Amino acid sequence: MTRALHFLRSGRLAWRDREPSRIEDERDAVVRPFVAGRCDGDTVPIHRPVSRAMQLGMAIGAIDPVVGSICGSVPFKGPFGIGHECVAEVVAVGSAVTTLHVGQRVVVPRAVSCGSCAPCRSGLTSKCATTTRATLAAFGFGAACGPWGGMVADTFRVPFADHMPVPVPAGVPLLRVAAASDNLADAWRCVVPPLAEREGGSVLVLGGGAKSIGLYAAGLAVAHGAGQVDYVDDDAGRRDIAESFGARAVTRPDGRYDIVVEATSSASGLRRALRALAPGGVCTAVGYYVATGTRVPLMHMYATDATLRVGVSHAQPLGHHSGRAASRSGMLHDFHVVSSLEVQVPEAEVGSGCEDAAMSWLGAVVRRRMVTTYVTAASRVAATVTSPSGRALWLPPRPTRGAVRAPRPKRASPSSEDAVPAMSG
Ligand SMILES: [Zn+2]
Ligand SMILES: [Zn+2]
Repeated sequence: MTRALHFLRSGRLAWRDREPSRIEDERDAVVRPFVAGRCDGDTVPIHRPVSRAMQLGMAIGAIDPVVGSICGSVPFKGPFGIGHECVAEVVAVGSAVTTLHVGQRVVVPRAVSCGSCAPCRSGLTSKCATTTRATLAAFGFGAACGPWGGMVADTFRVPFADHMPVPVPAGVPLLRVAAASDNLADAWRCVVPPLAEREGGSVLVLGGGAKSIGLYAAGLAVAHGAGQVDYVDDDAGRRDIAESFGARAVTRPDGRYDIVVEATSSASGLRRALRALAPGGVCTAVGYYVATGTRVPLMHMYATDATLRVGVSHAQPLGHHSGRAASRSGMLHDFHVVSSLEVQVPEAEVGSGCEDAAMSWLGAVVRRRMVTTYVTAASRVAATVTSPSGRALWLPPRPTRGAVRAPRPKRASPSSEDAVPAMSG
């Protein structure tokens, strides 16, 4: 049997057995994940009992009904396989697969896409017409996003294997691209293409909701030559990380900016971000703004000639925007040069296949309050759940089937438009 980490309900995860992954179509591959990232969005259902509040919100029209087509009519209804960021080793390929071989190390994008339909050909792989039944086809989101399961598992099946997995270029540290399936790619699209059009431009990151995306965006902006990178966040630990990346931690926006990253995942943060734009500036909002009728200051945007970008990220083809159109791995090469984003742990510790190594890696990551949380090492699987403060809540020395309890954090006191906890990813 194959073990896979399942979300049961808020505060509760468990290892569940499932049928072994196998080639079901000649275009499939089966992969063994050995480094996995925890998306910012995963923390929401794990730590907060949002399901009932979201059901109620949809029922009374306070939450946009499209949320139900992504999270299900009963949002976050367990059990479902969780996790949608990983680096994996290819262990089997179907007879029609020509570009991938067993043993290759790949990033698997969170969205399941075919690569040949019209949306895929135009780069909108998260809107693939072949795989998308409702709004999104993806790993780790539950049944509403398809039958794909989660990535925190011994193995899993990847369809369209000549298109989907992105080989990690030689020399790129694997831990550095653990979140490239989603959060790292999301941060990349916020700052790198806009900076290419605004060389040396100023960047503001409003962080704290989409925690890792905001930090990655700050680091990438510095690495890509932004003239100024200001980072705003209530959390001192994240401000320290942003400063270690070369950004300037500030308490509030300081003037106007060419590029703004809205990562508070709140309506008020979105308005603040838009009002901080310089003439001709672009704001990318990476949160979920689930309320119906979120207020946006359109007249202010008119007056400043502002652009607002909002939407799911398309991790797989981001390489096309990096100036290396011929290389599907362009984005990963890009991260290779962002040394400040490296998690400072020797790769051998993870590859050695012992739980002690996984534990030391997780410990290091948690101490740094960085973003990667799940590790699968060789055929053994280790995982942890972190609290919002970054403290490790659970790490089994010897994973066994059974339930795992994660203490609930204190309830937040949300207000009006921001009634649903900040989330993203
Ligand atoms: Zn497609
Ligand atoms: Zn995500």
